[in-house]
Amino acid sequence: MRMPAIFFGHGNPMNAIENNAYTRGWRAIGERMPRPKAIVCVSAHWYLPGTFVTAMEHPRTIHDFGGFPQPLYEVRYPAPGDRELAAQIQTLLAPAVVEADEHWGFDHGTWSVLCHVVPDAGVPVVQLSIDEMQPADFHYDIGKRLAPLRDEGILIMGSGNLIHNLHAYAWGGHPVEPFDWALRFEKQARALLIDGDHEPLINYETLGRDAMLSAPTPDHYLPLLYVMGASAKDDAVTFPVEGIDGGSVSMLTVQFG
Ligand code: ZN
Repeated sequence: MRMPAIFFGHGNPMNAIENNAYTRGWRAIGERMPRPKAIVCVSAHWYLPGTFVTAMEHPRTIHDFGGFPQPLYEVRYPAPGDRELAAQIQTLLAPAVVEADEHWGFDHGTWSVLCHVVPDAGVPVVQLSIDEMQPADFHYDIGKRLAPLRDEGILIMGSGNLIHNLHAYAWGGHPVEPFDWALRFEKQARALLIDGDHEPLINYETLGRDAMLSAPTPDHYLPLLYVMGASAKDDAVTFPVEGIDGGSVSMLTVQFG
């Protein structure tokens, strides 16, 4: 059975310890899908020069943020790593150079979502980094080459945000209306995804002002390209979680299959 490929909008790290519409949506996704044999996660928060894959047996939980309440720092996500899968990914992606990493672990892009999707942490997880030196189509192409793993029971997961503008974000938790540019860009992106028209989303930097305000930096947008690359033509495209948080962070989940 082919596993889905899913892009999660992770948003605020506090989602890890909250019970809200987003986290309930993530739990429901985990309950609906078959239990994965393993998970490959591309997180916005492992964005550096080079492509690395975590290859340790027991990845640590990284609290890669500051200024949050103490209980968030106490969260651990003890899922095992998977050295064999890491090696398989190195082979699949050759001749692209993928280095085995023994230092990273799970950043909050991974664990703040997976603690809801797979709450028992019983499924092995590897993270794949985003090479910040590469153009957008490189990331889409890596996703394509990861696609066969779906037929082996492996979940391909991206964690970022389709729209992620922290300059415009309303900190403090009071509800605010989404910005008009955010609504327009999300609508455009959804339509392209449903049509299977990936080219404009790969070349998002040419889509104009709404796209530039939505993805002012590439890190949170690019995980979507990996998941799109891993999609198949006959996959159903659904948006099982949606909402725009703080006016400028899209919590949209995009599920293929
Ligand atoms: Zn983030």
